Amino acid sequence: MPTLWIKYWIKRIYFFGFSHRCNACGSFLRKWQWHGQNTPLHFQYDMLGSGKRRCLCPICHSIDRERLILLYLEELNKTDVIRKARILHIAPEKSVMNWFSRHSTREYIKGDFFTDGYAYDHDTMHLNLEELPFDNGSFDLVLCSHVLEHVINIEKAMTELSRVSDRSVRILLMVPLALNLAETIEGGAGDTNEFRTEHFGQFDHVRLFGADFPQWLEAHGWFVECWSPSSKASCKWGTSREVIWTASKKKINAVDG
Ligand SMILES: [Zn+2]
Repeated sequence: MPTLWIKYWIKRIYFFGFSHRCNACGSFLRKWQWHGQNTPLHFQYDMLGSGKRRCLCPICHSIDRERLILLYLEELNKTDVIRKARILHIAPEKSVMNWFSRHSTREYIKGDFFTDGYAYDHDTMHLNLEELPFDNGSFDLVLCSHVLEHVINIEKAMTELSRVSDRSVRILLMVPLALNLAETIEGGAGDTNEFRTEHFGQFDHVRLFGADFPQWLEAHGWFVECWSPSSKASCKWGTSREVIWTASKKKINAVDG
């Protein structure tokens, strides 16, 4: 234990500075740590949301997309949206769960597709996005980051997301995005891990979203907005080039009441 404590403080001192700030743990940092790995797809398609980049908080281990969600939630929290919302958090990130534990909501449910080899909090539900165990119109806010690329029957999942969403819903979506790929490409249930890694960037990804992602969402009946902070804020909070897509059943601004 003392060794861990010493390592922790060496890290705190080594990374201390005023160039960046982590909104997950509050640390002031002079730089972020490296995170992720590049594959040939990253060079071929200019990928957002994956690949090797400086985005890891050395203190709490949050990464760029988590801190972007936190920035967005802070903006939403300037209104009554969070306090009044029935929230479904799919594949919950630790830093975002912690944020919700400090803020009032009408209801907060978190769930994940339980997979061997991973650990889950005791109050996390096993959820299959293709068959959600909730009534129609159960949620006003849904968080679903880096999930859709894993779902085999995406049509069923999109139908389920729509069914459990209230008319005023706001769904926060993030996916690995291939900017230079014009159209999303998909595989099948029988694809091998090697095929998926080669074509979709990871052994458990069944599709690679391309630049048509917003149109793909619109084709599924959603109004879509894109949100990202200013470049100055992005640098400060270390959100890289990440963006949040919001999908709603009626037209709303990405961040408003
Ligand atoms: Zn941190």
